[in-house]
Amino acid sequence: MFKKWKTFFLDLLFPQFCLNCQKEGSLVCPDCLATIDINPFQYCPFCFFPNRVIKNGKCQSHQTFQLNGLFSAVSYQDKLVKKMVSLFKYEPFIRNLCQPLAFLIISHFMLTQNQQALVDKSAVFIPVPITTKKLRKRGYNQSAVVAKILSIYYGLDLQTKNLMKIKNTQDQVGLSRQERQHNIFGAFVIKNPDLIAKKTIFLVDDVFTTGATMEECARVLKANGAKKVYGIAIAREGLEK
Ligand SMILES: [Zn+2]
Ligand SMILES: [Zn+2]
Repeated sequence: MFKKWKTFFLDLLFPQFCLNCQKEGSLVCPDCLATIDINPFQYCPFCFFPNRVIKNGKCQSHQTFQLNGLFSAVSYQDKLVKKMVSLFKYEPFIRNLCQPLAFLIISHFMLTQNQQALVDKSAVFIPVPITTKKLRKRGYNQSAVVAKILSIYYGLDLQTKNLMKIKNTQDQVGLSRQERQHNIFGAFVIKNPDLIAKKTIFLVDDVFTTGATMEECARVLKANGAKKVYGIAIAREGLEK
């Protein structure tokens, strides 16, 4: 609570400067935001060298995976994106970066003309959860604050307390996909399966790396009755600019 008030007063007392060019006015000025290339395509989430996909969301070789497809807005190779995500997720925890970051996702949906994916009004946004320990440290779930903006923009439900992370997992950095899958297995539970029964879920995360986390979430969501699970990530690692 104190952190919230502190940010509120700091914003009030001190003007904001673009974290890229230092221009006064906003956290990321429109000029700098416009330099970020929005990904115009949809790619198979599980191909190491991502294959473009059009309708099915996944390439032929990855049809058995649980995640139905992935929308990734930008490349994590972009320096400004990396900086924004880092200041958003780690100290100094600039929560308001959720706005420009959500803007990148909305732009991706506009550019790929994939907005029809979001017209199903029974679909639900669910953020990839973090443990209560992490939540206490950061003060917010970074994926949840982005998912909240998307749910308001697209007029779809948001569930932040149904999919829960119950296991503290080792940091995934530096692990192979198999090691990550093993590491994350059993980390998530659904509290109320009725809320997701037969629904399409849009699972929101910050950075998509190997997909092990989203795949495990998708497995748990489907085992509890979800019909389809699509991932939405701000940035994808490994996707060329
Ligand atoms: Zn700027
Ligand atoms: Zn594939």
